[in-house]
Amino acid sequence: MTNYQPQSFVNRRVLKINVGFLLAEGVGYQRTIELDLPRVHVADDLALDYLRGKLRLSRNSRGILVQGKLRMPVISECSRCLDLTLVPVALEIEELYSFPASPDILYSVDETGILDLAPLLREEAILATPMGVLCRPDCAGLCPECGQNLNEAACDCKQNDIDPRLAILAQLTKAAPSND
Ligand SMILES: [Zn+2]
Ligand SMILES: [Zn+2]
Repeated sequence: MTNYQPQSFVNRRVLKINVGFLLAEGVGYQRTIELDLPRVHVADDLALDYLRGKLRLSRNSRGILVQGKLRMPVISECSRCLDLTLVPVALEIEELYSFPASPDILYSVDETGILDLAPLLREEAILATPMGVLCRPDCAGLCPECGQNLNEAACDCKQNDIDPRLAILAQLTKAAPSND
């Protein structure tokens, strides 16, 4: 993930949205913002690529409600063959930013009217990171004996489709002394 063009980098400042106009309006006022970011750092340890989608910011009595769905591809390892594969991920966002800040609410709009999406997107991206990804539904995985990627080629290891419980029996048989 290192060969990105520097011009495609977007500063984290784009995630700081000035919502002063919404705070000034009455409850129920809303505005939709569109994100289409080639690459943005949401934290020092996390950058998101090709983040796209719309968020609706609504003024309510407690602050600003942020709702919407964002999409991005995530690079993940196939759980069978360990090849890197791109997985489309959707972030379902529904979060209240309190105004003024409240001890019971995780996120808040600061006194200058800035709503920072970065910490929220960081949390959502971590939660949405897929587990048990497969590069394709019928991925053949790696040979447990020699490590050969069986999607690319077969190996010379003995392929036995024996039930693992039967495999134990087969081993016992093999280990038994022969009396010939
Ligand atoms: Zn695979
Ligand atoms: Zn093998």
